[in-house]
Amino acid sequence: MTYVFKNIRLVVCILYVCVSSFHLVEAAPAREENILKVGYVLNTGFVEENWTGHYSGYGYEYMESLAMYGHWTFEYIPYKSWMELGAALQNGDVDLIPCMPGDYRLFKNTVRTDHVIGRFPMALVVNDLNIKPEMKIGNIPDNYPVPTLPIIAENEGFSYKTVMYPGYYEMIDGFNNGEIDGYIDAMIQPRRMKNLLSIFDRQSYRLLVSSRNTELLEQLNRAMDHMLLYQPNIRDRLNNKYLRLGGFPLALNRQEREYLQEHNKLKAAIFIQEKPYAYFEDGKAKGAIPEIIKRISDDLGIEIEIVPTKSVVETRELIKEGKIDIAADAICDYSEVEKYNVKLTQPYFKISYVPVKRSDSEEGDPNKVACVTDFLYTKTFLEPHFPKEKLLYFSTLEDCFKAVSDGKADVVFAPRNEVPYLIDKTDTFNLETNSESYFYDEICIGVYKNSDPRLWHILNKEVNHLDSDWVRSIVSKKQDVVVHVTPKWFIYHHPAKVVALVIIISWIIGGIIVYRNRMRRKHIEVIQHMAYTDARYNLPNIAWLESQMPELLSKRRAKPSTKNIYVAVLAMESRAAIVAQYGEELLIKHMQRASKQLNEKNWVIMTAAGVGSNNLVCVCQAESDAQISEYVSEALADYSYIETKDSKIWLHMKAGICEYRMSDFSVLQVVEKANAAYAESSLNDVRIFDDRLQEDLTLKHKIESHMEKALADGEFKAWYQPKYDIKTRRIIGAEALVRWISADMGFMPPGKFIPLFEQNGFVIPVDYSILEQTFQLQKKRLSEGKEVVPISVNQSRLHMTEEGYLDKIKAIIDKYKLSPTGLIELEVTETVFGDFDEKTNQKRAADIISKLHEMGFTISVDDFGSGYSSFMMLNYLPMDVMKIDRSLLNASGDSERMKNILGNVIKLGRTLNMQVICEGIETREQEELLLELGCHYGQGFLNAKPMPVDDFIKFFEKRNSEVA
Ligand code: C2E
Ligand code: MG
Ligand code: MG
Repeated sequence: MTYVFKNIRLVVCILYVCVSSFHLVEAAPAREENILKVGYVLNTGFVEENWTGHYSGYGYEYMESLAMYGHWTFEYIPYKSWMELGAALQNGDVDLIPCMPGDYRLFKNTVRTDHVIGRFPMALVVNDLNIKPEMKIGNIPDNYPVPTLPIIAENEGFSYKTVMYPGYYEMIDGFNNGEIDGYIDAMIQPRRMKNLLSIFDRQSYRLLVSSRNTELLEQLNRAMDHMLLYQPNIRDRLNNKYLRLGGFPLALNRQEREYLQEHNKLKAAIFIQEKPYAYFEDGKAKGAIPEIIKRISDDLGIEIEIVPTKSVVETRELIKEGKIDIAADAICDYSEVEKYNVKLTQPYFKISYVPVKRSDSEEGDPNKVACVTDFLYTKTFLEPHFPKEKLLYFSTLEDCFKAVSDGKADVVFAPRNEVPYLIDKTDTFNLETNSESYFYDEICIGVYKNSDPRLWHILNKEVNHLDSDWVRSIVSKKQDVVVHVTPKWFIYHHPAKVVALVIIISWIIGGIIVYRNRMRRKHIEVIQHMAYTDARYNLPNIAWLESQMPELLSKRRAKPSTKNIYVAVLAMESRAAIVAQYGEELLIKHMQRASKQLNEKNWVIMTAAGVGSNNLVCVCQAESDAQISEYVSEALADYSYIETKDSKIWLHMKAGICEYRMSDFSVLQVVEKANAAYAESSLNDVRIFDDRLQEDLTLKHKIESHMEKALADGEFKAWYQPKYDIKTRRIIGAEALVRWISADMGFMPPGKFIPLFEQNGFVIPVDYSILEQTFQLQKKRLSEGKEVVPISVNQSRLHMTEEGYLDKIKAIIDKYKLSPTGLIELEVTETVFGDFDEKTNQKRAADIISKLHEMGFTISVDDFGSGYSSFMMLNYLPMDVMKIDRSLLNASGDSERMKNILGNVIKLGRTLNMQVICEGIETREQEELLLELGCHYGQGFLNAKPMPVDDFIKFFEKRNSEVA
């Protein structure tokens, strides 16, 4: 491909060289190169030499072009004046003069070429545009005659005198010194000229040679012929470059100036409302056209107000009605103007139309051309150029752009400078345009045809005066640009960058995710460690057990085992005392060691620190409840003490166990049940949470929730069991025993609730209630004058530590105004004295008993001989009645030894002057035995069971009347 291309280039070069040489041969028959001396006058601008030694200027460029056609090398020689230069030509110092303003015939023996090099306007330069009535106007003899000067003078209204200077420089000096008010000059360099009063005539510049040098003249004429053949527009080009560069000078005549003084404010309509040409923002006109209008108003020294209109039609109407003076954006279509009553100035800029296509569209003729229905260019360009079936009509350019972008059309022709704005407006990311313009509209100024003709003249001059480069730059300047790079646009135009960006972003996101996950994992590990560790023992905790459970259970499900899962709680009762005495460290180490060793046992699955601070929880396995109890008992035996160098520290441990069933919701629930079993178990013992315990606990819960209301409702009733004289069978007393006749739970004997009330303290109010019922009964019997026997009331051991016990008892006595003497006995079990080992407690108990005595109560020691009887108690506490426990009597039935013991206990009581009474007599044999052993009083089912008050009264009255 490159090879072919290179070859094509080579062929083109060869052809070009051949053709060019052919022309040159034609153009210059004299092939030898001649050096010609070209004279020029300094500072006329025709040939200029700048400080770098480079030449420029209209004449210089023309000559250098011409040199190509004549095979000459020109040598430029500067002269101060035309006269000097003329002399030089005549004496052969120069071969030719490239120009001669004015009358060349001043130089004798010169001839001039057929063609002019250029034609330059003449200008009248003045020192002040407010001209005086009498003017001195400078000129030089070699200047071209100025036939129009008198007319100008007349028009401008001044008379003048011509002052002739020998040369150009003398004239300029004279002007600068104020000798003259103005001068005539050729307008070769309009940029340098200020205060042009008038531009008139035109001077032709031709090449001059000596009339002797006819051969050169002929060569020059031929070369110029050829040059014009191949570069016919050279003069236009040079004119544009040197004369019009920066705009043609503005020279307004007197009438025009007067017009502007009269009309210093004009109104200009603009109907174009498109960036970058013209648009309105916040009521202000912006864009190229308003900017150009601003320049025009500055140049003319007047104010031009811009009035937006909605359409050309509206503009025309407003012009016609005289409401506005000019249309700033008239389309330069002279064929239409007559219809619209306007005169048009020369155009001041072009709107070039370029094809806009999709970037990916194929080269070649478009199939469909999108065009706007009523646009002028649709009629003047598109319709004549494209067959009807190729044109797709839309109402706006925006719609055309969208159609091309969407593929409905292939091309739309749009004003070049507007394309970026249209692309932005329509968000069509896939369109592009090449810079080649296909056609254009010219924009000029429209003036009402009947308006003052001066206005049209002024505007025409002004439009000419505008610097076309500046106008171009204003139009192509982007207004508030725009081109929003939308994601769609970016993806379409930079796919590779987008892919790279996506990859990088994915990496970054991926990296962030990986980092975050890693941090999260670490974080979770730390949190898990914290969440799953018991801080005190640094052992796994219940939450950890819980977390391990699902895995254990799923293994179980996968591989069922004959063994059950249990949760065992092993705890110590005396933690506080041990910590106080030996410090916590010892205990922590023991627990950690125990946990470790338990974990090594094959029945233990896992161990953790329990919820409280004093227990271990084991998840373990065994074939049966009995087996697990055995395992745990062994463990208790192993860990219930801490062996130090010289002693064993007993921890007073016990354990509770509960089976973990597959249906159980959480380990914690099971631990709670094991804890409940633990609470119910006794020291060094193991208790399993079974149905019975469950029932007990349920009942316990029920009792606790009902007890307060029950007491208030009087559900705790005193029943009475008679005490009797075994020999005579006479009723000698009774014991008040509580019964709960519950509306919710039915009849309940004290065994069901008293132990619980002992735990929760509710036994205290119950005791007072029974005591009061007994007081009531006795009071009633006395007030009725009936027989009374002493009735004993059980008193819980809790009263011994109860605050204000004695005061409350006193209050009851006071309430019933009844001395208990001979009427009320109080029964306290010997267990109350179990707590009285310490001296202070013993003293306190002794105080209480003696105070009760003082109040008139008889005091019985209940259940004597059932537990760890303390004979010391008998010493400390002077009791009145000894109630021998039923167990002693029962045991005596089949053991001589026990009979002996019972006999001695009875003796002991009698020796201490106590009334001795035996509980639980169920058989005649027992009665006989007791009589034989010296115990005359008894209480038991054989005689009577406990009964409600009315039954008791009946029973008692009946019996005592029988035995009386
Ligand atoms: P306790 O004070 O030793 O009362 C005697 C218990 O022996 C009564 O049981 C009574 O019914 C029962 N009993 C009497 N004779 C026989 C017999 O021949 N055979 C058998 N098997 N039992 C006999 P109860 O009424 O069930 O009371 C049990 C315990 O509850 C009482 O033993 C007492 O410690 C406690 N208690 C009863 N009422 C009260 C009370 O109001 N306050 C307090 N604090 N404790 C009470
Ligand atoms: Mg009793
Ligand atoms: Mg008893």
